[in-house]
Amino acid sequence: MSKESTIAPTEKALQHYDYAIVGAGASGLWLAMAMQDAGITAEKTLHLSERDPAKGDDRTWCYWAKAPIFPGHKQEEIWEAFKRPDAPERTVHIAPYRYFHVRSSEFYAYAENKLAGNSRITRAAEDVQSVREIEGTVHVKTSEREYTASRVFLSAPPKDRTGLPELRDFLGGPRPESPGLIQSFSGRRIKTEVPVFDTAAATLMRFDVPQGDSTRFLYVLPFSEREALVELTAFGSECLASDDALPVIRDFMQNLDTGYQIIEEETASIPMSARFDMLRKRLPADTRIVYIGTPAGALKPTTGYAFKRTEAYARRLAAALAAGTDLPTMHRKRRFRLYDRLLLRILVEKPHRGKEIFERLFKTQKTVKILKFLDEETSLAEEISIFSRLQIPLFLEALTKDLFRR
Ligand SMILES: Cc1cc2nc3c(=O)[nH]c(=O)nc-3n(C[C@H](O)[C@H](O)[C@H](O)COP(=O)(O)OP(=O)(O)OC[C@H]3O[C@@H](n4cnc5c(N)ncnc54)[C@H](O)[C@@H]3O)c2cc1C
Repeated sequence: MSKESTIAPTEKALQHYDYAIVGAGASGLWLAMAMQDAGITAEKTLHLSERDPAKGDDRTWCYWAKAPIFPGHKQEEIWEAFKRPDAPERTVHIAPYRYFHVRSSEFYAYAENKLAGNSRITRAAEDVQSVREIEGTVHVKTSEREYTASRVFLSAPPKDRTGLPELRDFLGGPRPESPGLIQSFSGRRIKTEVPVFDTAAATLMRFDVPQGDSTRFLYVLPFSEREALVELTAFGSECLASDDALPVIRDFMQNLDTGYQIIEEETASIPMSARFDMLRKRLPADTRIVYIGTPAGALKPTTGYAFKRTEAYARRLAAALAAGTDLPTMHRKRRFRLYDRLLLRILVEKPHRGKEIFERLFKTQKTVKILKFLDEETSLAEEISIFSRLQIPLFLEALTKDLFRR
């Protein structure tokens, strides 16, 4: 009799996966799909743990791009022009970009459909409680069970952070002090009795709303002449409550002179902070616990856009995993991180100046150049030409404070 067979098993072997993703939201699902597209799941197993698989329509995502990154956009969810923030009666075309909108429920269904049928990909409704790396294997404890994985991607850190790499260290150590804000928005999907909306153009920012002690603007997405999302957004230290937005939305609708009905509401907030800025360009190929999504710096601090960035990052990450090379991060160039910190500082210290900064930006620059700048694809010369037309003393004061960390 062999030695092994005389030993009684003391505990049941844990289920093991090659890869696991914690959180099947935007970044988790983009990564799972990218790993499948890169051929990784033809041989390796991938498990997704999501605590709330029934979340459905928990948000809507918009992005501008030259080509859609999501194949299921309906025609009424694509715009080729914007209303100008400083002159809402004027429309500017944004070619070569278009502005796209997708409901989260449609994105989740698309991802589910794409991943279904791959027997190496599994999903479970489970709340991940702890993640620990022990002797080269990652142990994951969920509300339902425990499993192990060779590598885990975290879009949401579990409550018990013991055993996790410190997020600060993962991101690359201490970063320049930066004031933080909250971007909060409260919108209503509205159906009108008569056709009133101009479907040719979306409104990203419209500042003819009371500013209060935050920078506030209206955001309007016209899906048809009778249906639109009308949203109040605030960059401030406190979250907008659902009721704060109603009077502003009512005023806007009153000017359109039509009866209307509210059919949906979206109220949420996201951090505007350089705290999640990734300072490392690469991670060693054998890193076993990798943050992705919001904790890894997916949200651009001054805009809150992340959907397109998470998709692009997922493709780069999957390519590196397939090639077995060092892993890329969501590192951003130093100067773009600085621009974000300067604007955040101004918005924190002088919230009443936000309106004039954004209006001046759109008045003095081509919208396409602003979109390129927000995508962090402009040249230094283009950035100088942008800042030279803005409120220079304000930015110089913010720069001085940033340099001397005041
Ligand atoms: C209402 C709203 C609207 C937005 N609109 C836009 C937009 O128009 N354009 C844009 O570019 N960005 C937008 N954003 C910002 C950003 O794109 C989203 O926040 C995006 O969802 C971030 O992706 P993520 O993967 O980091 O987080 P999420 O998509 O939130 O995914 C994290 C997932 O982890 C799950 N989870 C959390 N804890 C656990 C746990 N312990 N165990 C298991 N699962 C867990 C959550 O349920 C969730 O599904 C918006 C954000 C919000 C909140």
